[in-house]
Amino acid sequence: MDMVVFFMANDRIYNFSAGPSMLPLPVLERAASEMTNYKGSGMSVMEMSHRSKVYQEIFDETKADLRRILSVPDTHEILFMQGGATLQFAAIPMNLISATGKADYAVTGNFAKLAMKEAKKYGDIHIAASTEDCSHTRIPAQSELDVRADASYFYYCANNTIYGTEWKYVPDTHGVPIVCDMSSDIMSKPVDISRYGIVYAGVQKNMAPAGMAVVMIDRSLAGHELPFTPTLMNYQTMIDKDSMYNTPPCYTIYMLGLVLKWVDSMGGVAGMEKLKIERAKILYDYLEDSKLFKAAAEPEARSDMNVTFRTGDEELDAKFVKESQAAGFSNLKGHRAVGGMRASIYNAMPIEGVVRLRDFMKDFEAHNQ
Ligand code: PMP
Repeated sequence: MDMVVFFMANDRIYNFSAGPSMLPLPVLERAASEMTNYKGSGMSVMEMSHRSKVYQEIFDETKADLRRILSVPDTHEILFMQGGATLQFAAIPMNLISATGKADYAVTGNFAKLAMKEAKKYGDIHIAASTEDCSHTRIPAQSELDVRADASYFYYCANNTIYGTEWKYVPDTHGVPIVCDMSSDIMSKPVDISRYGIVYAGVQKNMAPAGMAVVMIDRSLAGHELPFTPTLMNYQTMIDKDSMYNTPPCYTIYMLGLVLKWVDSMGGVAGMEKLKIERAKILYDYLEDSKLFKAAAEPEARSDMNVTFRTGDEELDAKFVKESQAAGFSNLKGHRAVGGMRASIYNAMPIEGVVRLRDFMKDFEAHNQ
């Protein structure tokens, strides 16, 4: 018997991957149409010299669009850096910790913990808050944050991709610069970047194909790197060279430019926020009602980007993942560290994909009481 498979246009399936994840279809189509000959240049963007005029225009426009769409203040520089988000785990302490030799971290998930561990190589690291004792199902309240007054910076991860929790407030650190990993919720809502020393994000969820991190840094924090900091991880060098000390990830930057145009056409970050609230509500409302599935995160901490849930029975979870895959919903298996299921519903996920998933879950529940 043929399975009913929910295909989107162009035989695309609903991809709930945590990253790399879905890109907007119009972006892929535009990239495809420009693949072999970009605007009459006779070559692909992949084949261009990064020093050419035609490429410089792509680069400058992308950066300007990013500044406008994310309202990046003039105090902050935008950098395109290689090594994904993970290289920033080291770059941040290398560049910032010399102020006092100390830095404070909120450990609310796997990636915050990895960042904290990496930072320990470079100075005195204090855990300002941890949710490890409750398997990272919640976000600490402001009153729980123990930030040292002489910390060079306070670090947190805005959205915990694996656990499906999201900070709903910007911590008050009494003047200690805030460094924030927004890899999995960047560009999903308006953010006041001026409140942060650094906001950075690996691009492979809401911004572009993998291969880059966008770093938005208050310029006054740069220029104090530890002496052994590699040139390519030195924020001041990257500022001075406008992210082109060496060959940048040219094509990823071009794709980011196309995604920014799509975000613009959808009403900017305010438009993205409206959609993300709508998407998340469809799934969480159902999870509240469901007798079979339970949301993994506490209600006040729930992420609008990564919805984690489970049945409580590992075999049934596995059955759900298998059947959902066969029905055209891919990558719903939870991260190996936590099990269960995870639906990553980033900017490019159409509302229809979430409605179809909710209906599929209802159907599964009806057949697996
Ligand atoms: N931070 C967060 C919040 C993430 O979700 C990820 C990857 N999923 C990372 C950091 C690591 O990113 P990368 O693979 O680009 O190094």
